[in-house]
Amino acid sequence: MGKLSVIIPSYNEEKMIYNISNIISSLLKKEKIPYEIIFINDGSKDKTWEKIVDVCKEDPNIKGFNFSRNFGKESAIFAGLTYATGDCCAVIDCDLQHPPEVLVTMYRKWQEGYEVVEGVKASRGTESFLHKFAAKTFYSLISSATKIDMSNASDFKLLDRKAVDILRSMPEKHIFFRALSSWVGFKTTSVEFHVQEREAGDSKWSTLSLIKYAITNITSFSTAPMQIVTLTGVIFAIFSVILGIQSLYMNFTGKSLEGFTTVILLLLIIGSIIMLSLGIIGYYISKIYEETQNRPRFIVSEYENHN
Ligand code: UDP
Ligand code: MG
Repeated sequence: MGKLSVIIPSYNEEKMIYNISNIISSLLKKEKIPYEIIFINDGSKDKTWEKIVDVCKEDPNIKGFNFSRNFGKESAIFAGLTYATGDCCAVIDCDLQHPPEVLVTMYRKWQEGYEVVEGVKASRGTESFLHKFAAKTFYSLISSATKIDMSNASDFKLLDRKAVDILRSMPEKHIFFRALSSWVGFKTTSVEFHVQEREAGDSKWSTLSLIKYAITNITSFSTAPMQIVTLTGVIFAIFSVILGIQSLYMNFTGKSLEGFTTVILLLLIIGSIIMLSLGIIGYYISKIYEETQNRPRFIVSEYENHN
């Protein structure tokens, strides 16, 4: 039977480590699935790493990697994929919002021959209206950019070794795991799950970090914002031709002074459009810059495993 690597990105989750490793270990032992659990401590500020070291001492199937600082969830997932040795890898949240029983369902699907098993949210749990609205807009943008329906996608997935190796070999630094794992293709199926309440601690996302996350991911999957710049340029060119004709007409009929307001308005509008466009282009340039710097996605400072 193939070995399952369970990757758990953890950031300030000291209350959860013991819990989740116990639940997953006993579940997989009961189902007789060979496994390893990989905890990635994403630069937590609490005792998460100490807890990971403790559980590693108890169970040789558990491995812990400690980041030198907080690199973000995507980097943690990526580190997990890098160090996983299993024939398939599953990514699951540390807060038990992703029900661990589904891991078994995913594993069985993998045994049937599926290479990517996506966890799909049956419900979005209890999120505020604003959060739901923002998530919906974000996912419809991403879905149209990737041509894959992502509205209920999550990071809860199981990937075959083949897909993992492809993801690992991709040079891009800003990865968006849940879209990229669909983008690679392969024989895919999905499993529905109900989002659970967070067991302990708080969600690690502030509104600002969510906005940043959305912008990074939209720009890494689509150049649509840049095309919008071109489009507005075209619209305003047409607009200015019409206005030009109109002001010429005003000039010939001797009422030209009235056009003064139009001039000011135009200056303002064009000025702001130019600024906006430069901003968008600048954003892409900064991403190109970051990719060319070729820095590592994460830095591991410590490793724990008792095997
Ligand atoms: N996480 C991480 N690094 C971060 C933020 C979050 O590794 O910078 C982990 C976190 O420990 C959890 C998962 O990502 O296992 C999902 O985070 P959270 O539950 O806060 O997100 P939400 O469920 O609210 O989307
Ligand atoms: Mg959560």
